[in-house]
Amino acid sequence: MSQPIIVWFRQDLRLDDNPALAYACSSRKPIIPLFIDCPDERALGSTILWWRGKSLASLADSLYQRGAQLILAKGPPAEIIDRVIQETGADTICWNRQYEPHGVERDTGLKSRLKEKGLVVESFNANLLFEPWEIKNKSGGPFKVFTPFWRHCLARTQEKPLAEPIDPPKTLTGYEASLGSLPLDHFQHDLPPQANQTSELFHPGEGGAWAKLNTFTSRGLGDYADGRDFAALESTSRLSPHLRWGEISPRRIWHHLHTAAADNIIHPAGLQKFLSELGWREFSSHLMFINPDMHENNLQSQFDSFPWQSNPDMLEKWKHGETGYPMVDAGMRELLTTGFMHNRLRMITASFLIKHLLIDWRQGEAWFWDRLVDADMGNNPAGWQWVAGCGADAAPFFRIFNPIIQGEKFDPDGRYIKRHVPELAGISGKPLYAPWTMKPAMIEQTGMCLGEDYPMPIVKHEDARERALAAFKSLSK
Ligand code: FAD
Repeated sequence: MSQPIIVWFRQDLRLDDNPALAYACSSRKPIIPLFIDCPDERALGSTILWWRGKSLASLADSLYQRGAQLILAKGPPAEIIDRVIQETGADTICWNRQYEPHGVERDTGLKSRLKEKGLVVESFNANLLFEPWEIKNKSGGPFKVFTPFWRHCLARTQEKPLAEPIDPPKTLTGYEASLGSLPLDHFQHDLPPQANQTSELFHPGEGGAWAKLNTFTSRGLGDYADGRDFAALESTSRLSPHLRWGEISPRRIWHHLHTAAADNIIHPAGLQKFLSELGWREFSSHLMFINPDMHENNLQSQFDSFPWQSNPDMLEKWKHGETGYPMVDAGMRELLTTGFMHNRLRMITASFLIKHLLIDWRQGEAWFWDRLVDADMGNNPAGWQWVAGCGADAAPFFRIFNPIIQGEKFDPDGRYIKRHVPELAGISGKPLYAPWTMKPAMIEQTGMCLGEDYPMPIVKHEDARERALAAFKSLSK
């Protein structure tokens, strides 16, 4: 039997369009699929740990059905890989690239060390449409503004179409001798207790990713461009957690939707808007690649002296959806119960924490990191820095969302608020977005006790706005 090849799975928990796996299959060597829980990576949040466990179970099953056993390990990757090489005599290893700060450094070091030892080491792009080092502006530097970045990316696809995705292997030649592996149970984690809707809404694994893509495609994308902003509508794809773990590749999505557009199944305008959202994902990953400390440091250094306030009590109220602003609370409670939050709500709730409460964006980022089902090292800090105004191509700080107007505009019939803040179900019209403005007769009609059944606002919008603007102005002094 020839020497085996190790396929190191990381954020590519799929068989479809997996270049590292395809390379291993073409080598005709016995395959050792390996997943390592790496202690050097940013500790995962509670929701995403649940996701990873389920996704690994799904991957292990798919591999097993085709003839290979997924080996699970925990510890420093260099040590584990050395051990597997020693035990099996593997002479080749391959993986799909990661772009997170720790990953890039670690993989580069590992690659050169293993090559020095005489191993063949191959790595591939599987999780982005474009490699971060390929997309450069006219002066050869990285783009700092999204629109020219995406225009440039699209132009490249006109010159040279994106490669066709690779179909999943039908069978695999697994490594036959038994190898030590941690049990799958070791990777299974419970969801946080409040997240009682997550497992109904999401099904981790390749099958779940395809189900979301097919449902999204069958909706035709006609209302995507406008509908994606309306909180109660389900017009977005909800593919983000699947993309996070690489259960489906962006290249597969790209080709699948282009085919659907050519067959008149989906709307071309909806398609372009959707692709530009995938473009934001690319932009965030490229930013992270260039700024490895993006989750810790402001991309615009003048924000380093921003007068953030420490307010643990307000922070807790924000986390648990008890700010007294229904639209903010609905978003935060959606996060608690489902592990997901609609994009418009991510902007509204982040803006409230940063601008109304003057709490450092990093504290919000950390809470999202812990609770989001799609918590991502690129998109999450990029989203937070965008809202805070300290990121690349960010919303200006002085653009302060009014949570009442945002509610009226993006949840006009109040369905979203009532779904997540059921104690407000009896209120209709404008007071739903600002319950404290209700007249006594109306309060009586609802049977509510404001301040007890639902909190009074923790800050007054107008005062908070003035305070935020003053804090921002202090930066330029
Ligand atoms: P769709 O509208 O269907 O979009 C398709 C895909 O495009 C998404 O799955 C996602 O991969 C990408 N995408 C969409 N919008 C954005 C965006 N604004 N920035 C980057 N990529 C985007 N997204 C994450 O995947 N993980 C995060 O941790 C995350 N944190 C965020 C934090 C804040 C404060 C903000 C403002 C945004 C954050 N986003 C994050 C981006 C966005 O909210 C989600 O990607 C989107 O809501 C996911 O829903 P969807 O899959 O239905 O999106």
